[in-house]
Order: sequence, then structure tokens, then C-alpha cells
Amino acid sequence: MMAQYLEIKAEYPNALLFYRMGDFYELFFDDAALAAEALDIALTKRGKHLGEDIAMCGVPFHAAEGYLLTLIRKGFRVAVCEQLESPAEAKKRGGKSVVKRGVVRLVTPGTLTEESLLEARRHNYLAAIAEVRGDHALAWTDISTGAFHVMPLTAAHIPPELAQLRPSEVIAVDQANLDWAETVSEIGASLTPLGRAAFDSTGAEKRLCSLFGVSTLDAFGSFTRPEMAAMGALVEYLDLTQKGKLPLLRAPQREDRAGAMQIDAATRRNLELTQALSGGRAGSLLATIDRTVTAGGGRLLERRLSSPSRNLNVIRDRLETLAFAQEQGRLSADLRATLRKVPDLDRALSRLGLDRGGPRDLAAIRNALVQAKAIAGMFAGGTLPKLTADAATALTGHDEIIALLEQALVAEPPLLARDGGFIASGHDPELDEARQLRDEGRSVIAGMQADYAKQTGIAALKIKHNNVLGYFVEVTATHAEKMLSEPLSEVFKHRQTTANQVRFTTVPLSEMETRILNAGGRALEIEKRLYHSLTRVVLDNSAQISQTARALSELDLTTALADLATEQDWCSPHVDDSRALVIEGGRHPVVEAALRSQGGGPFIANGCDLGEDNDIWLLTGPNMAGKSTFLRQNALIALLAQMGSYVPAKSAHIGIVSQLFSRVGASDDLARGRSTFMVEMVETAAILNQADDAALVILDEIGRGTATYDGLSIAWATLEHLHDVNACRALFATHYHELTNLTDKLDRVENATVNVKEHDGDVIFLHEVRRGAADRSYGVQVAKLAGLPAAVVDRARIVLDALERGEREGGATRSTLIDDLPLFSARPATPAPAQTSASEVESRLADVLPDTLTPREALDLVYDLKTLL
Ligand code: ADP
Repeated sequence: MMAQYLEIKAEYPNALLFYRMGDFYELFFDDAALAAEALDIALTKRGKHLGEDIAMCGVPFHAAEGYLLTLIRKGFRVAVCEQLESPAEAKKRGGKSVVKRGVVRLVTPGTLTEESLLEARRHNYLAAIAEVRGDHALAWTDISTGAFHVMPLTAAHIPPELAQLRPSEVIAVDQANLDWAETVSEIGASLTPLGRAAFDSTGAEKRLCSLFGVSTLDAFGSFTRPEMAAMGALVEYLDLTQKGKLPLLRAPQREDRAGAMQIDAATRRNLELTQALSGGRAGSLLATIDRTVTAGGGRLLERRLSSPSRNLNVIRDRLETLAFAQEQGRLSADLRATLRKVPDLDRALSRLGLDRGGPRDLAAIRNALVQAKAIAGMFAGGTLPKLTADAATALTGHDEIIALLEQALVAEPPLLARDGGFIASGHDPELDEARQLRDEGRSVIAGMQADYAKQTGIAALKIKHNNVLGYFVEVTATHAEKMLSEPLSEVFKHRQTTANQVRFTTVPLSEMETRILNAGGRALEIEKRLYHSLTRVVLDNSAQISQTARALSELDLTTALADLATEQDWCSPHVDDSRALVIEGGRHPVVEAALRSQGGGPFIANGCDLGEDNDIWLLTGPNMAGKSTFLRQNALIALLAQMGSYVPAKSAHIGIVSQLFSRVGASDDLARGRSTFMVEMVETAAILNQADDAALVILDEIGRGTATYDGLSIAWATLEHLHDVNACRALFATHYHELTNLTDKLDRVENATVNVKEHDGDVIFLHEVRRGAADRSYGVQVAKLAGLPAAVVDRARIVLDALERGEREGGATRSTLIDDLPLFSARPATPAPAQTSASEVESRLADVLPDTLTPREALDLVYDLKTLL
């Protein structure tokens, strides 16, 4: 057995091997030590190998899923090795044969399908990144739902796309120089290297054609080599992990980067789109706005929120559908009531496709299709918006399957096909008979007894059962002679004579006996056969069923968003391709919900007005005034509008935002081992390098992480760069009051501030945003509110007075400070006019190729240059 174990284990060096032994999965050697620690179970020993004890631990087969989940969450991969024959079969093969075993599946984070291992409302994506001669592509799939997508992109766009997608596993070429490996670990995904061969684009085409049963991929669109390679690698990996059982994937959908609002990882984190800063879903925008009632709808919401559109038509279609759902309140309410009864169609279908399903999955499909039909019926009459009409059409056409499943399955079947009991009676005569024999064997026999009594004329004839004879006919000794002579002896064969009784058997009785004994097993066999044929029928229709699933999710999401809009009094945004970001009475949905649940004061709505004469608002105001909240709420409103939702505002006019950036100064990021200031600068650099003129940038206290003048200078230069070079829309919050004077120099920057009131030396936060600059920072007052000891607050006041007096009397005034800082102008340097002849230093420098210099040569050069001055 150990030899077999070691042979199998050698094929899976990077996975824990779950080696099936009877009712347990056992792990040996290092696997055992790792698993025992990760699962917190006992590590024991079993036998010896090369003279050493073999470490061992085991988990019961029936509880394996829970252990698997823990191991996968902790980053392990598990190869599940099953017994492929029964011990009896092994014995038949001869003497001491070991039961045949083989790995049936490699369980990895990106290839899960079990309900208990998945989050219902989240997609579980497996992604592959491929590169062919400098061009890249990203392909991803969720085998639990059949989703399959691909996107061409540049290397630089890999990190933000991964951040958007949040796959749980990413496959890439072995040993590649992975610039984005950090992103993979940041989003908690596991990175799986595969050999180059898996990424071969020509092989990929073949693999894909055979997966989809087509002779050419043209029907799905045209794909570039890297796209083909990425998709092929996914399929190869699925083949590897599922041991040849390929999941039901939909035709690959080609995604377009340009079609979606670009949001990088830092921005997503910052805006807490799908995860709160604390890590969980609670407190995120997603959790706050999720009113979906089906798992599919929940997943669709997460997708939309992670990837708002930039396509005006798409956005307008969605908004139109939403308006319809809101107007038709009654219909929406009925729809939602019915949708609540819809099971997770996609995942049931995918489990059946992988042969990992059960009767309950068939029932889920039946129930979902029945509800889909009911929903389609609700749309009868009236004109529908395009998306709703499309969805309504996709809901129907399953009458035959519904009829079949309704007739074939019991109302609430068991989870596993193994134990039978899921096929309804009346569906299959053979099964009914088998079950009748099994369940009603006694009454069948009783019927025979009555028949025999009549036939023999012996009223006291009995049919009895014991373990030695099985079923037998028994008469008292007085009737022996009659029974033993013709014609009865023809039928009744003598078996046994006791003191008072004579026992017989008959051919029909022993046949019946065998049938009763076998009936249970036969019923089970028939049920299994029926299970497979039902599964086949469902899978033959999987394409239409998954379209229905999509339509149900779409309707769920639409009615959920309509419900939310009505409940929270949101408005329909006007979206166009202008530069506007004009919001009246905007609110932050998450902060508002938090205030409400904590019984705090009302949320103060605030407007924002960018685009007309100004692109940038410079927001000043004391800490705790509500600057961050205001900044984020505007970003969220733009994002919600572009995902096709109503927005928390009185009115909103949004010119399509191409990229959304949000940064907060000096957030703690010690986990990544960088100083907070460094992180802040790296992230700011990313914005300044990438933001185009349709971007929306939210910068909160940039420069806070360093000394005052450094910070001020950096904030200053950043603002100028945004204004002059990026020319994007931006909201810039700062506590550097000096910056407010920049509005004189930068014509598209406007000051805004959050109002506070001062009362008896205390500040009162009004949370009202208005145009204009804050008069002071109120830091000392805020510190007092925070409970700093009175002595410290008093002392701080004195120091502040002194500093302010110093600045007024002797130091630089704010306006002179501006003029003193020409260095920070961010306008791209204009080339020197041609007529001025180059100085000696300049011409010397013009000849230098810095890339080719060694540090030593560079130093020598500096010395040389110095002598030229
Ligand atoms: P700042 O960025 O100016 O330090 P925050 O935006 O973090 O301030 O807001 C501080 C707190 O003030 C928030 O946690 C919230 O409870 C409250 N707050 C912010 N904006 C509003 C508002 N518009 N209406 C009501 N309360 C608000």
C-alpha cells in the first residue's frame, strides 16, 4: 500500500494527498504534519518507512468537505485519491492485491463547486494570464456558474484588472517575470505556475474547439494569440484538476477594457466597494446596497459594482429598465416575491455538468424553471423596456423539461443519488414494481398465501420465513400426504418435515424471494439510471437553462436596485459624455446607513459642481468635518450611475468617467513593509502617470505623511499637475490652508470648505459643504473634543497663537509663499528656444547616454561638469 501511496504522491508534489482508506482520507509523511497543524487534528504514526515512523493523520470521509474548506482557505491544494474498486474486487484479482486507487480531482481555490465551499453571492474566479510576444491577455472562468471571459490587455493593466476581478486563483507561466505577483497576493489569490506548453496558442485552439464541440472558434468571435493562449491554459488546467471531466462552460465572452470604468486596487480598497477596510463584506458599499434575493442576482450586483460601464447605451438601457421597474411597483413586488423562491440555477447546473451533483440539483433546476415560467407570465401585455423584454423571452421555453422533472422527481429529494428515494412513484413502472416488492413484500407474499390456500383447499396453509430456508409454505403434518402427491407435488417441492409441520417451496415463491431480496438493490439501480438520463436531458439544454439563469439574475438585480431607490429616495442620474459632475443633495450611502443604525443625527446632503468652469475642488476644513465622506460620496455616485443604478442624490448629472482614482494620505500599510509615506507617494504617482482627462480623482490629505513643508510642497505640486497635465476632474481635500490661494493661479481650481461653527471655544460640525476657503483648521478644538487633557489643549492654544503671530509679523505671508515657489510648476518643460546657443555644460550633457554609464563614470562626469562652471 505504501508503494502505491508513494507512487501517487509523486505525481502531486505540490498538493496534500487525501488517500482514501475505507471511511477515512488519510495523509502521510509531511502532508500529515502540515494538515494536522492546519486542521488542528491529532498527528499519529502508522508503520515504518525506511526504518522511520510514518507520520499520519486522517479525516472522516463524510466530514471531508469542512476540512477541505479549511485547507483551501489556508492556501493548500488537495489531491483527492479514491478507491477505484471494492476490496472484494481487489481480492478477486488475486491474493494480496491492493485496492486500485487514483486521484479523481485536484481541489484548488479556483476550481471549487461545492455549495459548502463557495460563497453564494460571490463568483469564484479562476484566471489565467498569457503573454505572446509582448502582448497579454487575461482569461477567467467560474466553473461553478460556467462564466467564461477573455480580455486582451497590456502588462500595465494586469494589476488593476486582477483587482477588479478578485479571482481566487491565478495561473501563469512558470518562472515568468511576474510584475503583478504582488497584486495577486494583495487580493488574497493563490498563484499557480503552469508549464509553457499549457500556454501554447495553437494547442489552445484545438483544446477550445474540442471543449465546445466546434470545428473552429470563429463562431465565438476572433481572438488574438494571447487570448487563445490564456483560454487554452484555463482549459488545460481544468482538465488537470478535474481529471478529464470538463465543466460546462459558456461560449467565451470577449470583454473590452475600454468598455468599463477603470478602478485600481487601491481605489477599490479605499472606497470600500465590495469589502470594508476591516476586511469583511459588512460596511462595504456592496453590503449596504444589496437588496437582491437570489444568489445569482447577488453575484451580478458584485460584478456590476466592480466593473461600472463606460458605454452610454448600456447605462441608459439599464436606467430605463430601472425606471420601468420602479414605476411598476406592484409588478416588481410580485417579481421579487417569486424570485425569492428561485434556487441557484447556475451552480446546480455546473455541479451536474461535473458529475458532482445530486437529485437536489435536479430539483433546484425544476423549481427555478417553474418560477421562471411564472415570472414570464407576469409580463404579459404592455410594452417592456429592451432589457426586460430580452429577459422575459429568455425565461420560457422549458416546458418539456419542467414537465419531465415534475413528473420524475419527488418534491424534496435527498442530497445524494447514492441512497435513492428521489424518483417519484408513477414515473417508471419497473421502478414502481421494484419498490413495491421492497416495501410491500409482505403483502405480496400474503397475497400468494391466499392463492395457495385456495389452490390446495388447505385454509391453514401459511407462508413463513426463516433464515435457513428463506420463504416457505407450511402446512400441518395432517395435510402432508395431500401435498406430497400429485397434482400438488408438481407445484410444491418438499423442503423439510418437522414434528408437526411439513414445509415446501414453489418456483414462484423462490423467484419472489429473490426478487424481494434484490428489489432494494434493483430500485436503487433503476433510480441511478433514471438520475443519469434526467441529468443528460438537463445538460443537453444547459445553454438555454443558463440563459434563463442570467435573465433571472438580471431581473433580480433590476428589481433590487429599484427597491433600493424607492426605499432610500434615490434619483435617476443623467449620464452623458460631457465633463459634468454636478450633484445636488448628494449623500454617502454607507455613512448615512451607519448614522441611521447608530441613531446618530441626520446625514447632511451636499452638492458638488464640477465641469462647467472648474475641474477641481480644493476642499479645506477641520478634521472630522466630513471632507472624506464628501469626497467619497461623489466618487460613489459616479460609480453607481455608471453601473446603471439610481444614485443617492436629489439630482445628478454625470459625464462618463473613464477612470476612478481615490487615495488617502498616509494610510497605514505596514503589512506590505513600506513606510506609509512611501505607499502614499507610490499611489499618487500612479494617478499622476495614468489619469486621463475623463478621469475622476479623489485625493484626501495627500502629503500628510511627511514633514509640514514637504507635505505642503508635494500636495501643491500634485494639484498643479492634475490641473495642468492630467486635466481631469478632481476633488482634493487638504488641511494645508496655504493651498487655497492657488485658485488665483490655477483657473480651473475652486475652493470649497466644510462649515463648522465655533461656540465658546468648541467647534460644532455642520457637515455642510460650501464654496470658499476655510478660515482656520480648528485642530486644537478638535483635539479638545477628542478628550486631550485640558492642560495640553491650553498649552497648544498658546503655542498656536505664538506661531500665528510669528507668521503675521516676521515670516512669509501666504501670498509671498506662492510666489516663492515657482519650482513647483508642473507644466511640462518647454524646449529651450533654438536661437540660444547651448552652453558647454549643456552640449557635454547632450552627448551622455545615462543608461550606459557606470556609477563611477557618472561620478567622474559630475566632477568634469563642475570644472566647466
Ligand atoms: P474628515 O475627512 O473631514 O476628517 P470625515 O469625512 O471622516 O471627516 O467625517 C467624520 C464623521 O462625520 C463621519 O464619520 C460621519 O459620522 C460624520 N459625517 C461626515 N459627513 C457627514 C454628513 N454629510 N452628514 C452627517 N454626518 C457626517
